[in-house]
Amino acid sequence: CPGIGVKWTTGSVWGDYPYILHENPDIGWEPISFDSQTNTIYFRSDRCKGSSQGNSTKACQPCEQLPSSVTFANVQERAKEVKSHTNLRYLTSRQKDALIAKLLRQVEIMRTQISDFKRIIALIASEEVAGLRRILEQALARGSSPRKVLVILERTLRKLYRVRGGFNERELDISFLVKAIGGPKLLYALQKALGLTSVSTIRRRHRVPKLLPSLATPTSEEVHANIQAFFCPDIKPPPKFPNCSELPGNVMMFDGVALEGRPRYCPDRDAILGLCREHSSRVNLQVDSLDSVEQVRKAQIKNPICRLTAHCPMYCHHHCSTTGSGSNTQILYHPRWDRSIGRCLL
Ligand SMILES: [Zn+2]
Repeated sequence: CPGIGVKWTTGSVWGDYPYILHENPDIGWEPISFDSQTNTIYFRSDRCKGSSQGNSTKACQPCEQLPSSVTFANVQERAKEVKSHTNLRYLTSRQKDALIAKLLRQVEIMRTQISDFKRIIALIASEEVAGLRRILEQALARGSSPRKVLVILERTLRKLYRVRGGFNERELDISFLVKAIGGPKLLYALQKALGLTSVSTIRRRHRVPKLLPSLATPTSEEVHANIQAFFCPDIKPPPKFPNCSELPGNVMMFDGVALEGRPRYCPDRDAILGLCREHSSRVNLQVDSLDSVEQVRKAQIKNPICRLTAHCPMYCHHHCSTTGSGSNTQILYHPRWDRSIGRCLL
């Protein structure tokens, strides 16, 4: 039996047949000769009978049937097209070459990316990039490559790019504190240096509830007005209701806060604020006339001990849930005379 000749239509008989298959002796056949001219491979079945009856040039029956077997068809199919799950052992020499070339390209891309990552780390370590967190967050959201991130960071350092928006709660809170304690000029400086928010963003995003200070002993109207102002959902949205059986709750805490001992004018009520609550009712705090202001001044000179509030109780309200994750703290306070200072004679 001369074996069965199969014209190898997939490609070259040298590059497009997976010869390594025959390492496995159970495959069932083996190539015995090649004809490059006609691009034909001759196969002999393991069940070859040695000769065909009557005709010495014709293949025996098992060899004859080999090309139509399922296993042989699968080998031909895999030689044409590699499936994602194909075992690497079944690849032809040409398919392995293509795979190596593809992997080399990927290695080159990754080498470039690693180099870019190293440059990003070196840049972050040596320079203060304003708004770094926001730049990285937006780059991640866009799926930017390390090279693109590097370019953005370098442009930011050269003042050619400024990241916009994307402030988180903490950055808004810090910016608000900087503006409240240090003033808008400090916030402007830190906006340029560290990427804090602008004054206008704070005004827009950080709504501050208006506190109504009590002129003397707190009235229920004042307490209600403050609760309404501080718990308004527009100012502070209520915490999310836990989805399990846990119930959210409220904790009211009382503490003192030191104040600057200085009277102030309250434009909302046209009155003088900051006098001790126990005795301020004895004078007229309304700014009705120059004379009424003068009366308050005289009362203070007469009694310097009890003239001004130096300390006031602070009601701190804390939303909480049984998970202990509450972080929603509200502060209410009103001026009061501190008894430790002494007896009030106003
Ligand atoms: Zn045969």
